[in-house]
Order: sequence, then structure tokens, then C-alpha cells
Amino acid sequence: MSVRVPVVEAITKANDELARLNRARLDARGILGLNIMASPGAGKTSIIECIVPKLARDLRVGVIEGDIATSFDAERAAAAGATAVQINTGGSCHLEAQMVSQALDQLPLDSLDLLIIENVGNLICPATFALGTHQNILVASVPEGDDKPYKHPRMYRGVQVLIINKVDLLPYVRFDIERFRRGVNALNEGVRTFEVSCTSGAGIDALVDWVRAEAAARHATVAKTPV
Ligand code: MG
Ligand code: ZN
Repeated sequence: MSVRVPVVEAITKANDELARLNRARLDARGILGLNIMASPGAGKTSIIECIVPKLARDLRVGVIEGDIATSFDAERAAAAGATAVQINTGGSCHLEAQMVSQALDQLPLDSLDLLIIENVGNLICPATFALGTHQNILVASVPEGDDKPYKHPRMYRGVQVLIINKVDLLPYVRFDIERFRRGVNALNEGVRTFEVSCTSGAGIDALVDWVRAEAAARHATVAKTPV
């Protein structure tokens, strides 16, 4: 048992080092990096499809899609107006900084303002692997149930932003939003929260405005640095 612990630490340490290098590549160009995590089917790609056309009016958007197989999601992101790269993990249930580094090689970083990474659908290990992004975003969707913060505390604790998706379904499914909020508050009090529906469009503009403001703030950090 005692020999296994240093091995696990070494893996996450190496990942953290690569994540720092990814972050440096984004920071050098003033690119805001977002890491979107959620269980499968929560609507990560739908949210990207919904916000990219609005963001693309004044931002150059890159998207890295992480999936075990297929390039369906990168095709959807590209159709929405992003420059998209698909990572196929070939079975791995989370993205690692090394995979993101390879995807960054495929993107025109000097011509991007915003990078959105869609992680593999999974509420467990993506929380453990830093990618080098500035904000971790968790998408929770109403049909998943109000017990998820209680069952996945690590994921809920580690994010800066929470998106509650599919709020148009609240009248039709059992989802006690107060119970959900109590669970979230116990783990991550004051986490910035957006309630949205890609179907009705509710809450999307507020989310887009926040991303735009974050991207502008990120861009300003580089604009001030003399070339
Ligand atoms: Mg997806
Ligand atoms: Zn995993």
C-alpha cells in the first residue's frame, strides 16, 4: 500500500507541471481558458453551441473537445463558429494537460482570444487533473437530480463557476433546487452560478456577458505588457 502513494503523486505532479506550461502559453497571448466539466449528457456541447455564435461577434474562439471517441462535438463547435480540435482519449475518462498541450499545437493561438475546453463527461477524475485553464466550470443539469453535490463533493468544491442547465425542465422532473443549493453552499459557498436553458435561451445572455468580461480582463493583462 505505502509504495502506491508516491506513484500517484508523481503522476499528478507531472500533470501539474504541464498544466503550468499550458497556462503560460495562454497567458503570453492574453487568451482566457475555460475548462467545462460535467456528467455525460448534461449539455456541455449544447452550451458551447449556444454561446459561441454570440461570443464570436467580437472574440476569436477556439474549442478543444475531449471525448473517448468520435469527432461529433468538435464538428458541432466548428459549425457554431469556433476553431475546433477534437481529442480522442481512446478510453481515458478525463483530459490530461499533456493531451491539451498537443491540442494547443493544432490551434492558431496567436489568433485566439478565448479557449473553451470541453472535458470528457465524468464527475470524478476530471476534478483531479489541472489543464492550465483559468476557470473551472461545472455544468449540472436538472434531470440528473438534486443529489449530485452530495455525491460528488470534490467536483463541486473545485470549480469557480456552476451552470445549472435545462432549467426549462424544472416543472417536469423531480429536482428540488433548494436541496441542490444547500448541497452546493456546504461545499463551495458563493460559487458564481448561472441558471440556463439552451432550449428556451433563458440565462444565456448573462453567461455570455460574464465570459466576455472575463476575456476582456484577461486580454488587458497582456495589452499592458510592452512588446
Ligand atoms: Mg459533449
Ligand atoms: Zn478519468
